[in-house]
Amino acid sequence: MLPRWHFLFGMIFSVILWLIWPQISLLEAVIIFLSSFLIDFDHYVSAVYNTGKLGLRSSFEHYEERRKIYLIKKAKGIFMKDHLQIFHTIEFNLLILGLVLIFVWKPLIYAFIGMLFHSVLDIGWMIKTNKIHCREFSFIYWIIKRL
Ligand SMILES: [Zn+2]
Repeated sequence: MLPRWHFLFGMIFSVILWLIWPQISLLEAVIIFLSSFLIDFDHYVSAVYNTGKLGLRSSFEHYEERRKIYLIKKAKGIFMKDHLQIFHTIEFNLLILGLVLIFVWKPLIYAFIGMLFHSVLDIGWMIKTNKIHCREFSFIYWIIKRL
């Protein structure tokens, strides 16, 4: 899902939670909102890793080029995997959940809620667009494939 949709849906989600859940302060709602789209920062990190270029523009160009390659391969019946997006892996989410359970630190709990909301949107979008096979869900599996 494109970052602009995460931004919009994350804002709606956090405002709704803030309105219907009186225990959530405005700051905590802002944490949910920020984490609901900022975890996509790993797309930029991945582009920098794969291109060696720091610029945001080169990152967008990289993904546009990959999108074109994806469509060409898809037309030939080949389904291309995305780059690993580390913040979107099961292991990273379990790490954050583990930290939430160990430290019970409220800002981290709300950041995790935003991340979870982001992942639910991503998975729903991938199912809807038939791209679920493109995502690399596991960091460990990604490493094993490279050995
Ligand atoms: Zn995402």
